[in-house]
Amino acid sequence: MKRELPPATATKLARLGVRSLADLVLHLPLRYEDETRLTPIEDAPAGQPVLVEARVRRAEVTYRPKRQLVVHAESPGEPRRSLVLRFFNFYGSQLKAFQRAADDGLLLRAFGEVRPGWFGAEMVHPRCSTAAEGEPLAAALTPVYPTTAGLGQATLRRLVQQALAEAPLEDTLAEEVRRRYRLSAFAESVQLLHQPPPGADTQALVQRSHPAWQRIKFDELLAQQLSMRLAYRARRARRAPPLSANGPLLRRFLGKLPFRLTRAQARAMGEILHDLAAPHPMQRLLQGDVGSGKTIVAAIACLAAADAGWQAAVMAPTEILAEQHQRKFGEWLAPLGVRIAWLHGDLSRAAKRAACAAITAGEANVAIGTHALFQGAVSFARLGLAVVDEQHRFGVQQRLALRKKAAARRTGGARIVPHQLMMSATPIPRTLSMSYYADLDVSLIDELPPGRQPIKTRLVSAARRAEVLRRIRAACAEGQQAYWVCPVIEESQQGDLRTALATYAALSAELSGLRVGLLHGRLAAEDKAAAMADFAGGRIQLLVATTVIEVGVDVPNASLMVIEHAERFGLAQLHQLRGRVGRGGRESACILLYAAPLSEPARARLKVIYEHSDGFEVARRDLLLRGPGEYLGERQSGAPLLRFADLAQDEALLEQARAAAEWLLEHRPQSARDHVERWLAGRQELLRA
Ligand code: ADP
Ligand code: MG
Repeated sequence: MKRELPPATATKLARLGVRSLADLVLHLPLRYEDETRLTPIEDAPAGQPVLVEARVRRAEVTYRPKRQLVVHAESPGEPRRSLVLRFFNFYGSQLKAFQRAADDGLLLRAFGEVRPGWFGAEMVHPRCSTAAEGEPLAAALTPVYPTTAGLGQATLRRLVQQALAEAPLEDTLAEEVRRRYRLSAFAESVQLLHQPPPGADTQALVQRSHPAWQRIKFDELLAQQLSMRLAYRARRARRAPPLSANGPLLRRFLGKLPFRLTRAQARAMGEILHDLAAPHPMQRLLQGDVGSGKTIVAAIACLAAADAGWQAAVMAPTEILAEQHQRKFGEWLAPLGVRIAWLHGDLSRAAKRAACAAITAGEANVAIGTHALFQGAVSFARLGLAVVDEQHRFGVQQRLALRKKAAARRTGGARIVPHQLMMSATPIPRTLSMSYYADLDVSLIDELPPGRQPIKTRLVSAARRAEVLRRIRAACAEGQQAYWVCPVIEESQQGDLRTALATYAALSAELSGLRVGLLHGRLAAEDKAAAMADFAGGRIQLLVATTVIEVGVDVPNASLMVIEHAERFGLAQLHQLRGRVGRGGRESACILLYAAPLSEPARARLKVIYEHSDGFEVARRDLLLRGPGEYLGERQSGAPLLRFADLAQDEALLEQARAAAEWLLEHRPQSARDHVERWLAGRQELLRA
């Protein structure tokens, strides 16, 4: 196709994501205009564009209230109705054309909204053409396509018509699948959508509930499912070290757990250990709301690796979280003789070299750190398991680095790939995990450890700060601890950082007698660790912090969370921050301080967080407020985004597409490949990340 197109047109099409005939066929209309029937001027409904016919009487340029071309026309039948057309942007040639039409008494067809005006019915900037008496009307609704600057609707329509004539439109779906889900044929569907026949159900076309739209959305969802399942299978085809679920370390640890696992934890552990024992790489996402106890499950997985003589790496998105893991894993695993290496930014050169050497030599069983674990100098002797905590915080680049590092080892020529356990406390709504995360297995911890008290959430205007301070004093007097989070969103900005420093200074003065600490991302790793340790040990009562404590931080004695300028935070962030309290047996509270007046979106967010404590519900509403693009963050660049299907509306179709994908891969692999080719040709590179 490119050969025949002027290069400029090809470039513009590429901007729309259209690179082939097949892409053009799938470049579907945004909406339609109905030029298949004429509406008498007096019957034109308000607010809805229609096609009317009128005879031109005269045309002139007037200057009141501003320069415009005014065309006076009249309906052709009886009784005569007058119609005024106004154009504010026009060429001199248009004036002449209308004047000629008036001289010849020509009929005009105008498409647009008819409104009552000073001199009867008016239309502003209608699309016009002259017509001979009795000239036939358009046979189909007129499609309106998504387009880009310099590419007109007429050109697009012509190109699409051409593509419909030339591109192969054979059905990629096996007959059985079409029948089972009562889907219309592909060729018929695209033809109908590009060129709906007169009398087609306009409403259903506009709302995308028409059977033709259903077929297209099904196809799109199916392509996504297939590509994710294919990626999944490709990974399953690789080799990983089987890690026994019944080694001595694991047994000893399970015999003296610091607490009894919840049923959900035990189930997740079972699923993970089952996968780890297999000779192909696990790709599992462990999901559980904040505080549901994912860390110990990860530690258990690491023990399975150590038992089998393989290394485990635990990667956390922040130094603070890595440090906390280091402390917990040390407490839990070191007594069993497991050796832990902790890599962090502020290690002295010698200490770093020693840690790296222990990892390279295979002496360290577990390595803990930030993404630095998978960069540069570190090379693992026998990496068998990679744990990624708070995986949604890592970007594609970091995931790629991990994969590269992970793939580096060969034994006897065959590549050994480590198992991967990803953890996330940002609950992924069901439809998302069924679509964009369909290449992963998912374990769910849907239960909190016993004895947790619900967190009380309060919305408090910043004007009532003094009350909040009294509340902090009271809580600390009872031996509780509190966080005060400042809205530093981008810490590289000096100005923002000062907010945290200033708040710290102010609160230290206002709350004299309390032990106030400060934690932010620019502190040296040792100082961060010291502040965290002091808070965890109760030596700090009030911790003033930036969002560095957003994920993972676990201090059960802290029962009060104050979030300043809560209106500036996103929903996921607020839910995560709130999850820092309510971890002990004590009743906890989260105070959201906001500065009035609130913008509408901020008000909507605060309402959600106030009304819902369940992370899944928060996430679902977040998805509704923001759409999947934002929600997926970095992952979206790795997964084919949906153009036509809407996860909020098309959940039923998604279920069907998922079942159909499994069936096709099993029974009609060629049909599955053809289908992916039609929908995703050339768009899959990123999927491999
Ligand atoms: P998250 O899932 O947010 O990572 P953590 O693993 O940090 O949660 O666990 C939260 C807190 O609950 C920790 O203090 C942890 O020791 C504790 N915990 C985890 N599982 C249990 C359990 N089954 N019983 C009691 N406390 C638990
Ligand atoms: Mg955690």
